[in-house]
Amino acid sequence: MPYASVYPLVSARAVARPFTYEVPPEIGKGAVVSVSFGSARRRGVVVELEESPPPGVEPTLVGEVVGEVSPALVDLALWLADYYGSTPARALELVAPRARKRRSERPPPVDRVSLEAEPAPSTVTGTQAAALERIAGALDASGGHFLLYGATGSGKTEVYLRACATALDRGRSAIVLVPEIALTPQAVGRFRARFGEQVAVLHSGLTEAERRDERERIAAGDSRVVIGARSAVFAPVRELGLLCVDEEHDASYKQESDPRYDARTVAAKRASLEGAVAVYGSATPRPESWASLERLELGERLGGRLPPVRVVDLRREAGYPLSAPLLKELARLEERGGKAVLLLNRRGLAPALHCRSCGQTLRCGSCDVALVLHAGGALRCHHCGFSMPAPELCPACGSPELARIGVGTQRLERELAAKVPGLERIRLDADTARSPEALAAALARFRAAERVVLLGTQMVAKGHHFEGVELAAVIDADTGLALPDFRAEERTFQLLTQLAGRSGRDAPGRVLIQTFQPDSRPIRFAVRHDVSGFLADEISRRSELAYPPFRHLVRIVVAGPGPAAPLRALTELRARLDGDELSGPAPLLRLRGRYRAQLIAKTDAPRRVAGRAAQLLSGAAPAMRRAGLTVVVDVDPQTL
Ligand SMILES: [Zn+2]
Ligand SMILES: [Zn+2]
Repeated sequence: MPYASVYPLVSARAVARPFTYEVPPEIGKGAVVSVSFGSARRRGVVVELEESPPPGVEPTLVGEVVGEVSPALVDLALWLADYYGSTPARALELVAPRARKRRSERPPPVDRVSLEAEPAPSTVTGTQAAALERIAGALDASGGHFLLYGATGSGKTEVYLRACATALDRGRSAIVLVPEIALTPQAVGRFRARFGEQVAVLHSGLTEAERRDERERIAAGDSRVVIGARSAVFAPVRELGLLCVDEEHDASYKQESDPRYDARTVAAKRASLEGAVAVYGSATPRPESWASLERLELGERLGGRLPPVRVVDLRREAGYPLSAPLLKELARLEERGGKAVLLLNRRGLAPALHCRSCGQTLRCGSCDVALVLHAGGALRCHHCGFSMPAPELCPACGSPELARIGVGTQRLERELAAKVPGLERIRLDADTARSPEALAAALARFRAAERVVLLGTQMVAKGHHFEGVELAAVIDADTGLALPDFRAEERTFQLLTQLAGRSGRDAPGRVLIQTFQPDSRPIRFAVRHDVSGFLADEISRRSELAYPPFRHLVRIVVAGPGPAAPLRALTELRARLDGDELSGPAPLLRLRGRYRAQLIAKTDAPRRVAGRAAQLLSGAAPAMRRAGLTVVVDVDPQTL
């Protein structure tokens, strides 16, 4: 019998090495086996076969084989663990299917919305044809990486569809990643209409059993086109030929818990390991992609131009949140019929409650943020979920003079009801769209209504395609600009441009941006729909500051029960991390009662920095545990 190196799938950080087991001869790399580990049986993944056990090791016999992962996915997981500073076991858990317990009684999942079958257009545009030719060429060679860039409505989905068909023609499979399935029902519908039962959809609404069924169909080769969010990048397709990442600028591709992987980076690695083609599509690409990828440009929107954008300078226009120019546009829709989309990136009635007498803002007791006033009179913390009834009197001084500061989506909804009552209002935010069903129902109502406003947080700016949206408006373009993150301007530009793209896709449209900062960079470029201009400017700024794509960032956050210890731990760490540009340690907002501080490294070698930090921190682990400190090392963080 041969021997195998096996990683038992346990989440403990301390177990970061493989164990040797004696295995039957038919077992290969990627076999998922049941092993005895400690006093329990665990699943484990075979990562390597050996002729003889290492000296001094007494191998135990492996149990039954319970599944299988392709050797390429094993390599992908081991790379991921190394790059993001996680453990091999945690990374292998992402690619290893769970043991099957019972067959699902439920029917296979079907789309709840949008199955309006769409016939394939008989012709494609010249730019689509050129992009497809380049992709097909790379499929026949050894793969490649491309940025598919074109305005909203310029036909990116048709390129994905035809590129998938080309991959299928050559006997290969395709994976299409989308930011959130529930927000893109039309795209899923188009794939179903084109490829029928060959499409598998992986989304967060699936039960564990349904997910297993989809994975089995994929692994058996019955589904050769997989659509899904972030984790679908690990789908066990056979003969991967094509990996598309739609709306590649979307921040949801980054997982915010360990392993803190970025599905875009993982897609690039997987495509390289399996000789596949990776296509990243966006109307507002990331500077990272713009600077590094070969561009396939689709150009302007099909059958129309992008809508004119008007800036409403809130320093001169009264009436916030509904300025006179915006009200005039809404009144026109109320009178003649039509649809509008309004973006306000803040939930609740008012973002803060402020005492006019003593000047205090009501804050969460565990987080350093203001409590948000919601309809019904509750004050809620948007970070930890704490909730309390809004007091009548200021808790600090007893004054009844509590003023609501700012405007949230619920207040905007009330203003609309008062000022343009003839327009139906549909609100879309984390409070109304708690389930995929609720979200789908809201979108269906909007599609069917004739005089209607869809208002909400950034959800309203994501990939929906609605017929007949004449007006798109940003209530407050300044919310995102105030964030202390070097990506704040990039995100604001993307949001404004994406929202503008919701309007006028099939009818003449108009866009209004309300702002106190009409001269800020994102707004100046968004008004002209000047994506390449913004990116060129942003890339030169990043070059001066040595931000991505010019260097990588590694973020180290320490949290603890008091304010001093996290800063002290990071100061000690900083003294021993050398050779890179380090910023901090700096205190962060307190969260859920934990004081936090961060240290940021700008580096050309993120794996080395993360590895060195992990090594130093594990040496200090017992002392840190005693002090109640926890630590997170985040490679290529997406928020700072
Ligand atoms: Zn007071
Ligand atoms: Zn809180």
